Amino acid sequence: MRKEIALRLLTILVVAMLAARAVGQAAATSAASRAQPAPGNALKVCERCIRAHEEFLASDTLQGRGSGTHDELVAATYVASQLRQYGIEPAGDKGSYIQLVPTVQRKITSPPQLTITPPGSEPISWDYGEEFLVAGLTQTEFSGPLRKLDIDKISDVEKATVEPGAVVLIIGSDQSKVQQAAFSLASHAPAILMLARDSQSERFEEAREELPKLNDRLEQDSTGDSKFNVLELRQGAFRALGEIADGAMVRFEARSSDKKGSTWNAVGILRGSDPSLQHAAILFSAHLDHLGIGVPVNGDNIYNGADDDASGTTAVLELARMLGRGRRPRRTVIFALFGSEEMGELGSTYFSQHPPLPLQEISANLEFEMIGRPDPAVKDDSLWLTGWERSNLGPALAAHGARLVADPHPAEKFFARSDNFVLAKKGVVAQTISSYGLHGDYHQPSDDLAHLDFKHMDAAIGSLLAPVEWLVNSSFRPKWNAGGQP
Ligand SMILES: [Zn+2]
Repeated sequence: MRKEIALRLLTILVVAMLAARAVGQAAATSAASRAQPAPGNALKVCERCIRAHEEFLASDTLQGRGSGTHDELVAATYVASQLRQYGIEPAGDKGSYIQLVPTVQRKITSPPQLTITPPGSEPISWDYGEEFLVAGLTQTEFSGPLRKLDIDKISDVEKATVEPGAVVLIIGSDQSKVQQAAFSLASHAPAILMLARDSQSERFEEAREELPKLNDRLEQDSTGDSKFNVLELRQGAFRALGEIADGAMVRFEARSSDKKGSTWNAVGILRGSDPSLQHAAILFSAHLDHLGIGVPVNGDNIYNGADDDASGTTAVLELARMLGRGRRPRRTVIFALFGSEEMGELGSTYFSQHPPLPLQEISANLEFEMIGRPDPAVKDDSLWLTGWERSNLGPALAAHGARLVADPHPAEKFFARSDNFVLAKKGVVAQTISSYGLHGDYHQPSDDLAHLDFKHMDAAIGSLLAPVEWLVNSSFRPKWNAGGQP
């Protein structure tokens, strides 16, 4: 998991506002009654719909909906077709639901090398698949002075800092703390080096057969490459580097070739009926893509992503079905299913730069991620919200009946690991709803239909219908708590 509004759009909005105000005056008297669901619009989940969405999106036919692949486009087209059926208007390119996102696909073309040059000594050269593996790579070249960080000597790993520009070697006896430190430092440091989880030669041999993957990036990348370079060292190399003094120059080089690519979002809109809430839209989102075809595990090479994130996509579709069929809600509701989240939130980043409404007019975003199984860390069929204490949104939904609690895994930093974070950084109160219980099928081919708990999905989505119905008909303005906005 992981980034302008034209004057013309503004003019259209002003004209639309004036027109809406005229309609609004006539309709103001009936605004109160509109808050109630239309008669016959009983709030019940459609269990068959939930199953049907999953059985299509997570089927082997879609080959794991790889980021930026044709399979991802098929998933987006399916979502578009469902939104049409539910009476949601298109909000993508040229009157369609699909928003095409231009990307650059990058491919490593030769095994990368790592060179370490201690001051006044000869350089040492290490090869990919021999001394090191790649756990994450967003750049083809990086370098910096070595800085060893012994986390056994640090009380709060999350607050660990190092000099800017240093390549950090993390040393520590607690593997989960090492991972935690790696994750929190990786976005600042040029690279993180750590001991491989498994130094077995088999694992290195297998990895050597394929070159490491490099994330695609947006064609118009205004922020520059986002950094996430993490290398795993084999036992011997790790020990050798531990004996080299801080300040040795570490340099990584890989050759790559670029070509033009695309990823796709599916976006729909349900225009609100109350002009007084015109600038207070609600955005429901999830990501369409997953890891596609990859390294086989037990003979299976399709990474179906039934939980991650066909389940979230299904939840958003179910909300669209419920909200599309009744009376129009008072607030405008946007439904966005993003491409290439797994490659660094490319779809949501592009959406945040080309939104159907200015971002200031979106008062909340709820992203749905991995709700396909219950989390044993919380009560029956409850869902949790990332960054619970950051805003008043979670408590308000819970007060209106949502079985929603605080994220029980704060060390995982899930708030910053999905599409919501892209919007949160731009000021939108944006958080993720999940029930991911850190199961072992995460990012494995076994995150498939057979491992979903449909009873849980039905109950979890069902518990949100009434609170969502309240939210989209209320004038409640979600706000960041002091210090909560990232
Ligand atoms: Zn996900």
